[in-house]
Order: sequence, then structure tokens, then C-alpha cells
Amino acid sequence: MPALPTRPFGSVGAVPVVGQGTWEMQTDQAASIAALRRGLDLGLTHIDTAEMYGEGACEEIVAEAIADRRDEVFLVSKVLPENASRAGTVRACEQSLRRLRTDRLDCYLLHWRGQHPLAETLAGFEALLAAGKIRSFGVSNFDVDDLDELARLVPLERCACNQVLLHLEQRYAEGALLERCRRHGMALVAYSPLGQGQLVRPGRDATARRAVLEEVARAHGATPHAVALAFLLRMPGVVVIPKASSVAHVDDNAMAAQLALTPGEITRIDAVFPSRGRRLAYV
Ligand code: NAP
Repeated sequence: MPALPTRPFGSVGAVPVVGQGTWEMQTDQAASIAALRRGLDLGLTHIDTAEMYGEGACEEIVAEAIADRRDEVFLVSKVLPENASRAGTVRACEQSLRRLRTDRLDCYLLHWRGQHPLAETLAGFEALLAAGKIRSFGVSNFDVDDLDELARLVPLERCACNQVLLHLEQRYAEGALLERCRRHGMALVAYSPLGQGQLVRPGRDATARRAVLEEVARAHGATPHAVALAFLLRMPGVVVIPKASSVAHVDDNAMAAQLALTPGEITRIDAVFPSRGRRLAYV
């Protein structure tokens, strides 16, 4: 398989357009480790985890998967909002590093906004940067007004990414939010890009939606899931982090990086999955 295309990730470099999520991987550890390693073999080197996932268990699974391959990986973890004071952010990161059995994260994110002032969390990030424990910082679940507030504290160019909900059935982030991220060189990292495994929600249009995805998939010898990821990747500035705990799913997701949808196919998918205006909400 050819090398995966990449997209910029703030000022720290670039990541492959398809990465790997890790939420709920604690339910099948051995399969998840095998899947993550298969992903690395295929170039899916952006691995996303969080102290929240399995209360640290997912970070330990990632540690096992990358033990002999740390330098291949662009490793991202997240601090929970309740820990995101200045001192709490540093402490949480150090605990993540211990569970991940590494000395640095490539990016460290605020998982979503909570009670602690953003300035506190930023001070924690700055201390971690100065200590070489993180190479960059980013945010997650930030809407445009949250980015406005962040911009009053730090140039947005210093924030490497905004990780937000984005899939075929929930396309809010494609609008002003993506535009804002792009303008400042922040990657928009699409989480739950497969709708948590449910590409098409039950409802009136479900049959038509499924039919379009299946037809497009057949034309490319791909699956509807790969088509769904490729549809998100049509937008510059976007990278996706599907979670897969089976090697077959990882193979499928990696294909999405090479799948070029035609303008006609994009129009057809767009027509059956109309963009939604709802604000971002943490799921
Ligand atoms: P997702 O990636 O949209 O969907 C995961 C589900 O899809 C799993 O059940 C998986 O099954 C299945 N799947 C994966 N590839 C498939 C394929 N090719 N064909 C068919 N089914 C496939 O959902 P997600 O886990 O919610 O989101 C991805 C990652 O984003 C998370 O793991 C996490 O790292 C991150 N995330 C971040 C936030 C945040 O607030 N920042 C919130 C949610 C998620 P198997 O596991 O059986 O392969």
C-alpha cells in the first residue's frame, strides 16, 4: 500500500488523513492491540486516546501496542475538564505518560470545556511544553465562540487541532467551525467519523442513504464505511480517527485514505445526508 496522504497538524508537523481512535478498546484488549498494530503497519500512525477512556485502561492498551514502535506514532491524549487546572493538567499528563510508557505526547488536548478557566489549562500546557512532556496542545469539542475565547488568550496558530464530532449524520462542524480552524492552521480532527458504527440512523431516509453509500462503494470496490470516511476527507483541513478493534475494519478504514470520490458521487451523498445546523454537543 502506498504511503498515506497527510495533512498539517498545527506547527508540529503533519498526520496521516486516517488515524486510529481508542475509546472502549478495553472491552477487547488483545484484538484492539492487534488492530492498532495493523494500523501502524498501514501508516495509520495518529493514535488518539484519553485518560477518560476505560479510566486509563485504553492508554495502557496503546502502550502495549506501541511499546517497540513509539517513534512511528503521533500520540495524542486528553485531560478531563475536572482535572484541567494548571497543576491538575500537569499531574494528569504525567499520569497519562506513565500509563502510555512514554516520555512525551505529540499533542495534548483539553477533552471538553469545564469549570476551570481556560487560562489555567493553558498555563498547564505551557509548563508541559517547557518540560518537553508534550510537543503541542489542542482542544476538543470547541465551538466557534469557544475558539473566540481561546483566541483572546493565545494566538490560535499555537493550538494544533480542534477534535470534534463529525460524521455523515452530524455535519455541523463542516460550516463556520471548519473555516475558522483552517484559517488558523488548526487541524479539524473528526471524531466518531463512522457515527459510532451506525453510519445511517434509522428513519425515513435510511433506505435511500444506505443505497447511495452502497452504490458508491460498489463502484470503488470499497465498503460504505470507507466511502463515509472518504466523504469527510474531501474537505481540506480534516483528518479522521475511526476506532476499530478488528484488523478487517482497520484495513477497510485505511483504504479510505486512497479513495477519491468523483464530484458526482459527492453530490449524491451530500443530497441524502443534508448538513445539519445543530450546535456541537458532547456525546
Ligand atoms: P467511530 O469511530 O465512529 O465508530 C466506532 C465503531 O465503528 C466501532 O463499533 C467499530 O467496530 C466500528 N467500525 C470501525 N471501522 C469499521 C468499518 N470499517 N466497518 C464497519 N464498522 C467499523 O466511533 P468512536 O469510537 O466514537 O470515535 C472514534 C474515536 O474518536 C474514539 O475512539 C475516540 O478516540 C475519539 N472520540 C473523541 C471524543 C471527544 O470528545 N474528543 C468523543 C468520541 C470519540 P469494531 O471496534 O468492532 O472494529
